[in-house]
Amino acid sequence: VFITFEGGEGAGKSTQIARLATALQGSGREVVTTREPGGTERAEALRAALLRGVAKPFGPFAEALMFAAARIDHIETLIRPALARGAVVLCDRFADSTRAYQGAAGGLDPGLIASLERVTLEGLRPDLTLILDLPPEAGLARARRRGEGQGEGADRFEAEAVSFHERLRAAFRAIAEAEPERCRLIDASPGPDRVEAAIRSAVAAWRPD
Ligand code: C5P
Repeated sequence: VFITFEGGEGAGKSTQIARLATALQGSGREVVTTREPGGTERAEALRAALLRGVAKPFGPFAEALMFAAARIDHIETLIRPALARGAVVLCDRFADSTRAYQGAAGGLDPGLIASLERVTLEGLRPDLTLILDLPPEAGLARARRRGEGQGEGADRFEAEAVSFHERLRAAFRAIAEAEPERCRLIDASPGPDRVEAAIRSAVAAWRPD
């Protein structure tokens, strides 16, 4: 089973993935948690470069290709083998982030994104996508607090204008609306326990076992 988590900055994805992983492990399944960009040694190296903004001067298409290169390695060496073993894979961001960040918010042509998605994913599709929805100001404030705690500055994407993050949110909401069988929109504004409860019931309702 392949479950992806999506949403803007500071939506609480990593906290919620850790909590869902613990819950699913309790029921005796193998659970693999991973993230994009990244998830493998090679893809994590590309992640570090992307978040520093190394690809930005090349323009949005080349930057999207670098995200795609990371994704291909991640899918081939980690995601597909884990799914083949029967593991539950929980992934922090996936193809919907490309549609939202590089597409809707970054201005890359949607047709180009769709072609890139086809050749990169080769038919792999999340079974369930949980989209954590939050007003950008609230998410960015959370992301900033987290960054200060870790002594990090804002990354290349966090540093974008609020209007970028508004477009991002609208893009994720549109994806949830367009693909209701796959996607669940989760209100991420309450505290982590309430968000966790909403996620647990969304997962249980999707697959009651
Ligand atoms: O989820 P997390 O905040 O760790 O994501 C890492 C960064 O990569 C974020 O700033 C996100 O905006 C960016 N990103 C992106 N395009 C993607 C995936 C992630 O711009 N396709």
